[in-house]
Amino acid sequence: MTTIIDGKKIAAEIKTELIAETQALIAKNITPKLALLIVGDDAASQIYVRNKEKLCNEIGVASLVLKKEETISENEVLEIIKQWNEDTSIHGILVQLPLPKHINETKILLNINPSKDVDGFHPENIGRLVTGLPTYVPCTPLGIYELLRRYEIDLKGKHCVVVGRSNIVGKPIANLLVQKAPNANAIVTVCHTAAKSMSYYTKQADVIIAAVGVPEIIKGDDVKDGVVVIDVGINRVAAPETEKGSKIVGDVAFDEVAPKASAITPVPGGVGPMTIAMLLMNTLRSARKEVYLS
Ligand code: NAP
Repeated sequence: MTTIIDGKKIAAEIKTELIAETQALIAKNITPKLALLIVGDDAASQIYVRNKEKLCNEIGVASLVLKKEETISENEVLEIIKQWNEDTSIHGILVQLPLPKHINETKILLNINPSKDVDGFHPENIGRLVTGLPTYVPCTPLGIYELLRRYEIDLKGKHCVVVGRSNIVGKPIANLLVQKAPNANAIVTVCHTAAKSMSYYTKQADVIIAAVGVPEIIKGDDVKDGVVVIDVGINRVAAPETEKGSKIVGDVAFDEVAPKASAITPVPGGVGPMTIAMLLMNTLRSARKEVYLS
């Protein structure tokens, strides 16, 4: 019997918890606040920011959404970040990526005060993650961790193969799961394009975390029986049979892999719904000063 890991359901449960946590903070005269900067009119970014603002409203977290024209200079963006860093009413700062080419993304991220970096992308927070210190874990890896924890999937001593080594998913989840800590303590292999045979690694995995960005690259023959599969991929593919003419699939061929798996996330409805919830979780941790004391 395969367990379908229901990210939608878990995200809804977390939302209820976050509402209670927000009310507890407000009762102590702390209104959690998230500031979001969006530059330009990239359609996907507009949707992401709108969804983040909507969830803030639903949870009771204050949000400040600043929309700037594509032509804004790097210095002007840095000035906004500086003001937000100094504004004690703001607990979390998020700069929606990508930024226009004339703005150096790394420079902007480096200028966010790490204590407000609720996206967890600042190198100081990544360093804290690697060394096992309290930190803001990037939202997608944190969402994966929460799914595994809440489904009571014990990773201790399990061979976990992460496919993909991006800074936002692959590397942070690998570093999180290798920690000598509860709900982690895994034996972690990270696989990428230099691997001669990806399936050589995935076939040995007790747990596969696929963050590749290639539609259904992991097939039934690439996994062993009983594997746990977390599919992070979001890939739009042609689907002439649908009204839209396209559909979203993951990095895992679900129909082939699910019958062999003990547990698996669907796409959509698995990791995806967790990511924004984790942003709000990090913002509340900032408001409670759980990571940085001041
Ligand atoms: P990315 O930055 O493009 O990284 C992809 C990684 O996969 C790279 O490390 C790459 O290796 C590796 N890779 C690509 N093809 C491979 C192959 N044939 N064999 C082995 N490794 C291969 O992607 P990302 O940002 O991590 O995102 C990955 C996927 O997750 C995308 O579909 C994205 O849309 C999705 N995503 C979902 C969420 C969510 O909330 N659910 C959040 C973020 C991303 P190299 O390093 O060698 O190039």
